[in-house]
Amino acid sequence: MIIVIKIGSSSLTKAGKLFTPAIEKLCHEIAQAKKAGHAPVLVSSGATALGRTIFASAQVRMAEPAMSRAFGSAGQVALISAYERHLARHDSVAAQVLLAPTDFWIRKRYLRSRGTLHRLLELGAVPIINENDALADNDISFGDNDRLAALVAHLLKAEKLLLLTDTDGIYSSDPSVNPEASLIAKVEGIDHTLEQMATGSRSGVGRGGMSSKVAAAKIASWSGVETVIAKAARKNVVADAIAGKADIGTTVAPELRSISARKLWIAFAQQPSGRVVVDVGARKAVERRNSSLLAAGVVGASGSFAIDSIVDIADSDGTVFARGVTRWSQQQIDDHLGKKTSEIPDEISDEIIHKDDLALLPQ
Ligand code: GLU
Repeated sequence: MIIVIKIGSSSLTKAGKLFTPAIEKLCHEIAQAKKAGHAPVLVSSGATALGRTIFASAQVRMAEPAMSRAFGSAGQVALISAYERHLARHDSVAAQVLLAPTDFWIRKRYLRSRGTLHRLLELGAVPIINENDALADNDISFGDNDRLAALVAHLLKAEKLLLLTDTDGIYSSDPSVNPEASLIAKVEGIDHTLEQMATGSRSGVGRGGMSSKVAAAKIASWSGVETVIAKAARKNVVADAIAGKADIGTTVAPELRSISARKLWIAFAQQPSGRVVVDVGARKAVERRNSSLLAAGVVGASGSFAIDSIVDIADSDGTVFARGVTRWSQQQIDDHLGKKTSEIPDEISDEIIHKDDLALLPQ
């Protein structure tokens, strides 16, 4: 089976340095999975954390985005060379693939990434994926590697997504605060209650946290992929995840739906830049007839967004039922609201959001 395995910075590093036993264990288990005939694909964080330590003695401005990209750039070399060394001990070849969000939503790039990854698997190599941190754009980044791993699982039509972390899985509440907290072994559908249960990162290392694990599991689940959230340090975690052991951690069942990579990205984009409010007729047309969102159906907009931004689409009651990439800026909507098509300048499209750029959200 194709299994996408994601490991976070906090499981891989200690005090900003690579934690050798963790990488050794992971490479050993990956090699075992390969021997058993599976195709593991690794998504690894850790570059920025390692880079920060590499440059620790330099006088650097930590908070600057370009500086964090520079950390990622140097740290990635340290990270991938460690994987190369440890996998080589098991006669496995490490192959680095650095991705950007556009690799998922520009079809040509999407197909190209998929082609490369498939070839690597055919060659028996272990693809090791990270975001291209050196050039990452803060506004349109993956947010964290949990989401990136979920998108990769969709891209490869993987059978499983394994998110390796510091805890045993998703708890009913924070176990460090509440001794009554219990591990949730199986999730059938991710709802708001579960999203609220999962809190953010506690370690402060890396960008993920339990809430981003849940968000990633949701992407995977929408893609028809099962997610397993388990402790990185657990013995034979990879083999047990592949075998579907019941006590592995938290398993999130896949939904029976199929959604394109672009729509998946739109639906789960980090933070929408604003909101477009539509009337009842427009909601029906979008939801039931798969129509584009036309200017005539829009009754308002909020947030200040530019053309090509991702926005929520809500009805007048405030229910957000879809998301899309807008062809109008918020200013253009304000300027032309309520006008007839004939009064709108020709250079502006009649469609505020084209149907191909629109993803419905579960209600
Ligand atoms: N791409 C980042 C890195 O390798 C990690 C992002 C995350 O923590 O999820 O440092």
